[in-house]
Amino acid sequence: MNARSFQRLALWDSHDRPLELAGGQIHDPGTGRRKRQDIWVVNGRIHFRKPEGTTPIVFNLVGATLFPRLIDVHVHLREPGFEEAETVATGALAAAKGGFSAICCMPNTQPPIDDAATIRYVLEQAARAGGARVHPFACITRGRKGEALADMFELAEAGARGFSDDGSPVMNAEIMRRALEYSKMIGLPIVAHEEDSHLAGLGCVHEGAVGTRVGLRGIPREAEDVMAARDIALVRLTGGRLHICHVSSKQTVDLVRQAKREGLPVTAEVTPHHLVLTDERIASYDTNFKMNPPLREESDRRALLEGLLDGTLDCIATDHAPHTAIAKQVEFDRAPMGVTGLETAFSICLTDLVNPGHVPLETVLRALGPHPAALLGEPWTPIEEGAPADFAAFDLGRTWTVTADSFVSKSTNSSFLGRELAGVTLLTMVDGRVAWSDPSVVPVHPSAARAS
Ligand SMILES: [Zn+2]
Repeated sequence: MNARSFQRLALWDSHDRPLELAGGQIHDPGTGRRKRQDIWVVNGRIHFRKPEGTTPIVFNLVGATLFPRLIDVHVHLREPGFEEAETVATGALAAAKGGFSAICCMPNTQPPIDDAATIRYVLEQAARAGGARVHPFACITRGRKGEALADMFELAEAGARGFSDDGSPVMNAEIMRRALEYSKMIGLPIVAHEEDSHLAGLGCVHEGAVGTRVGLRGIPREAEDVMAARDIALVRLTGGRLHICHVSSKQTVDLVRQAKREGLPVTAEVTPHHLVLTDERIASYDTNFKMNPPLREESDRRALLEGLLDGTLDCIATDHAPHTAIAKQVEFDRAPMGVTGLETAFSICLTDLVNPGHVPLETVLRALGPHPAALLGEPWTPIEEGAPADFAAFDLGRTWTVTADSFVSKSTNSSFLGRELAGVTLLTMVDGRVAWSDPSVVPVHPSAARAS
């Protein structure tokens, strides 16, 4: 069945009618303990006892494990401008299907998100969509051209949660310095795509033995390293808040580790694909292994894992970058960079990192929950009495096969097509409404229950 055929958006909202989630196990990410707990959601809040005088709609979650709010801080939604690849609505739904209650979207749209009107447009589309909550990042520079700062104060007022020219670096160090100074005044992070565009040149894969063997032009690790080093130096100068996107180079992991030891306000993220794949994959010339930064060597992958384990890399973020099949079905060096990730991120982490024992589940949950929340300056609460109803219920034992038809995203350019993965999202709750539910979770309405 095509996933698009069973969209049931915001049909169940605790603001209209209480919801009961019966039989699930709550996972406490602090201790790793689980306890069986029925949950009632009323007006967006969690209750552990059935509120008196209510007749809730009941969801059977026996066998499910419930995790508090998961957040993906790096998503490309493609609207406005590239709606054939993704819209705010399809991306927010894909996020909810992946178990995410909230996402941050990047401003490399057309027009780019560099004025208040475009921010408001994205927020309105998101409110209408009813999927995961959408937090927009706005451009650092006007038109993402790297030449003049955008009006960061106006953008913050309109709802920007951070600033990024992602997809492109800010090559001018003076402009980056000013951006960090303003970000400090505003209290929002600079979210940096670290890449020296001159060093990267026309490269499309990692510069190394595999790239040479297959005859594709390389991007050296140092394209990332020199910019990460520069921006860390600028943080030292300005005290601005820096978040480094999609770390791929082992040397950048060391730079971030050193910056944190120094006590600088620097955080970083890593993608699921960089954690589990290497540049060996490009030998197939499959453009679903083409992304920026590129897949690197096993020694980098191991350094990224170490960085995740010791807390150097704070967040796991997908860099969900949808492209149409037509755009991707060209020669490798001509294809656009980027792969999707919202609907596979949790399952990939579970299947390839947690289940084989490489990374504890608690580490993955911290990188998808409290650490992203801290980047956004949001409180992050476990599933407890009175807390906002933001959580996801997974069947950790059930497996599924990644196929083009399994996605609700408009695009299917995944590196994991054909993989069998553990972990199915049964239900995602956002602000007390059901933003996603698996077809296997059939709610029972009180009237129906009485009739039977
Ligand atoms: Zn980027």
